[in-house]
Amino acid sequence: MILIVDDNKNNIYSLKRLLESHNFKTDAAESGEEALGKALKNNYSLIILDVQMPGMDGFEVAETFAGYSKTKDIPIIFLSAVNTEKQFITKGYASGGIDYVTKPIDTDILMLKVKTFYNLQENNLALKKYQKNLQLEVEGRRESQVVMKTEIDHFHQMLEALPQIAFTLDKNGVVNFVNAKWYDYSHSKTQFPETHPDDKSIAKEFEKSQQNHQPLELEIRIKHLKSEKFKYHLLRTTPVLENGNIKNWVGTFTDINDQKKVEKEKDEFLSIASHELKTPLTSIKAYVQLMDKKLKYDINSPEKSYVNKVLTQIEKLNSLITDLLDISKIENGKLKINKKPTNIETVIQNSIDAILQTQTSNKINIERHGTKQDIFIPLDEIRIEQVLINFLSNAIKYSPNNNNIILTTFVDEDNIRISVTDFGIGIPEYKQAKVFQKFYRVEESSVQFQGLGIGLFICSEIIALHNGTIGVSSENSQGSTFYFTLPLN
Ligand code: ADP
Repeated sequence: MILIVDDNKNNIYSLKRLLESHNFKTDAAESGEEALGKALKNNYSLIILDVQMPGMDGFEVAETFAGYSKTKDIPIIFLSAVNTEKQFITKGYASGGIDYVTKPIDTDILMLKVKTFYNLQENNLALKKYQKNLQLEVEGRRESQVVMKTEIDHFHQMLEALPQIAFTLDKNGVVNFVNAKWYDYSHSKTQFPETHPDDKSIAKEFEKSQQNHQPLELEIRIKHLKSEKFKYHLLRTTPVLENGNIKNWVGTFTDINDQKKVEKEKDEFLSIASHELKTPLTSIKAYVQLMDKKLKYDINSPEKSYVNKVLTQIEKLNSLITDLLDISKIENGKLKINKKPTNIETVIQNSIDAILQTQTSNKINIERHGTKQDIFIPLDEIRIEQVLINFLSNAIKYSPNNNNIILTTFVDEDNIRISVTDFGIGIPEYKQAKVFQKFYRVEESSVQFQGLGIGLFICSEIIALHNGTIGVSSENSQGSTFYFTLPLN
């Protein structure tokens, strides 16, 4: 918008018409004071200022404009009928005008000037706006850099306060921060602590997890620099994501040395206790079996039924002790598998028979699904039977209100898959993977059903030694399907 300042209304009128006929918006003021008031309130791209005015003359107005930041850069064209002399024109320029036009006005020339200054000012304003935005952006970036640095510092302080060894790696896996505890185990920031020769390499394991974009969790012994002793630690590295991409990694080593020692002592105790229990139990069993023979002909005597009950309990105790012994064998790497080609159908049938024999009620209904194939698979018959019996007895135990069980076989080119399905209490999804861990029992069912939580752990070890896979799919309150696969060759 262009502001016309003139004390003469006629002059304002004719100038307005001229400018508006060239599509300029205009505003007008009849005195210097009014012009100043308006210029401070509105945004003008050009001011056309009459020099001769009562009160403040044009030069004074221009000088005043020059004193305000809002108005100082607005271009001014002076209009004068009288002061055409050089000294006035010079004064005009000196007081801040950018052009001086004398009356009578040549409208073409005036319009040329107006257009030029108007455009210049518009460009100027646009440039200033752009500059201001740029400056704001730079400031914003500087501020967010400061905030980010504060956040990183804060994060590093938190890592320093942790009781663990803590470190961060950039997205390429280069360590870029370590807390003070790191230096108890490593001389330099870029070097991982030394691991026990029998343990896995941290660098290699981390590389794998980096390739798979997966967190890493590893129990490992690392060398304490001062004592030169290897101590068990749990290494964890977790990727930090930004818009779905890995930004960096955060890692910790948690000292689990004491925990490991206690675990070892517990395993040793279990091993000794189960060995020591086994010997007297074997002789108790032998004597009770003798008694059972003696009572062969007293089928209906109360003694015969007592002896039968004792024998059932001895069997339960025996299988518990055998499981405990298996655990200690697994811990010491002594669980051995004796594989030979075996008819899998026979193993399945033997397991079903063994289970049905131990059942006091004959309500259990085991359906056999899938094709029965007389194929021979290299396996340890006793151990695979143990797995199947475990699956079947769990299926019965954890289905108090349903007696139906389905045993399915499925054979493809490379593997056989055997599954046991029940319609019992089921397992919540997030606990399903854990049931194969040592001593793990699902909390919700552990009170109602007796057990030690080691059967499935032993099963998973047996299947692993056969190079097979084991798993479960289950729905809470609907039932579970436990399965394992074995390679055909
Ligand atoms: P145990 O039965 O002696 O507790 P297992 O190792 O055989 O030990 O099983 C571990 C846990 O898995 C059980 O405690 C139980 O919570 C759960 N589980 C196993 N089989 C089933 C099943 N068929 N249905 C529901 N839960 C099961």
